[in-house]
Amino acid sequence: MYLSGTCEFCGQILSIDEEVETKREADEAAKMICRCREAMEYQARQRSLESGIERIEELFGERCEEYGFNPVSEETVARLKENLRVCAEGGFRKVTVSLEDGSTAVLKFDDIAEIERKKSSKVKLSGKV
Ligand SMILES: [Zn+2]
Repeated sequence: MYLSGTCEFCGQILSIDEEVETKREADEAAKMICRCREAMEYQARQRSLESGIERIEELFGERCEEYGFNPVSEETVARLKENLRVCAEGGFRKVTVSLEDGSTAVLKFDDIAEIERKKSSKVKLSGKV
């Protein structure tokens, strides 16, 4: 059981509010309360990731009908969230996904989360004249 963790950025040992099982969780909790510059930047990124995840719910889940879109499956919503996490960790610069209804999801994380859903163009232009 851990009641304190180490901020990985500045090395400060901080007591945490809740007792956790692993050192890893304790260090993560310390990182979320430390006031050093790097930790605060990290916290801002985490907050942006959380609001990005909410935004994915809004643009692709049940509520997206309000914006004139068709909801996608829960599994697809979960995969989009997973991909946003990968972007936040620096794994992908940008993820573009073609969805079953023909719309496109664009996920980016460049210090802040950016989520877009685009409708496909109804008009197709032929390449031949
Ligand atoms: Zn720190």
